[in-house]
Amino acid sequence: MNATGWLAIAGLGPGNEALITPEVSAALAEASDVIGYIPYVARIAPREGLVLHPSDNRVELDRATLALDLAARGHKVVVVSSGDPGVFAMAAAVFEALEAGNPAWRDLDIRVLPGITAMLAASARAGAPLGHDFCAINLSDNLKPWPLIEKRLRLAAEADFAMAFYNPRSKSRPEGFARALAVLKEACGDARPVLFARAVSTPEEELRIVPLDKAEPEMADMRTMVIVGSSRTRIIERQNGPLLYTPRSAPGTLP
Ligand code: SAH
Repeated sequence: MNATGWLAIAGLGPGNEALITPEVSAALAEASDVIGYIPYVARIAPREGLVLHPSDNRVELDRATLALDLAARGHKVVVVSSGDPGVFAMAAAVFEALEAGNPAWRDLDIRVLPGITAMLAASARAGAPLGHDFCAINLSDNLKPWPLIEKRLRLAAEADFAMAFYNPRSKSRPEGFARALAVLKEACGDARPVLFARAVSTPEEELRIVPLDKAEPEMADMRTMVIVGSSRTRIIERQNGPLLYTPRSAPGTLP
């Protein structure tokens, strides 16, 4: 094994270049190889001495294995994810491959470089809907069965968390989000504000806030982050557009 190889698993943030950390930019500037899902690798400027390895969705373990193998052969590898690499992204996939793979890989220099995850970018644009306790749930049923998602939705509603939903409409099951909304309407009542934040920090950004009973499945797509407020989440109306926020405190009893 070549001692100079390393592997960085880096987050590119939600889209805008200004939201990429200097640490990630420095790793990309030193890299010999960048590996990731096609649209994320497309965000990396080509340059001499840098090999780009774009790959399709759902081949995370192949991508992880390639990254570990190249690093073990002395390459300086950056695996890129959007947002943060530890949130429903490549860092866990690399560690799954590491745990199951060649024992020599465990001696590699591996670092996870955080990024601004979509939930925080979306929340910041709208105000502070995650100002009190909240949870994050991936609504895709690619890697877990639907009944487990439904159970988590019900329990999160019961605990009165604000909820941040990633992958609201999975391609394999577009009706899933309609079911999720039906579960939430039943479990939370109608009044909670729901934020649909699409393509945050890109030129296509769109934000929309509606009460839960007016939330429609078509309001979300795969580029949308959905945040459902808790029973305490409030809207401050203003000339410049509403601010959505959840106060820091809660009474001792659940609604
Ligand atoms: N690792 C990423 C999440 C990957 S899952 C992160 O930390 O952000 C992909 C999901 O993230 C999308 O389906 C969408 O729900 C959300 N997402 C990613 N970028 C987004 C953006 N710019 N605006 C809104 N949602 C986004």
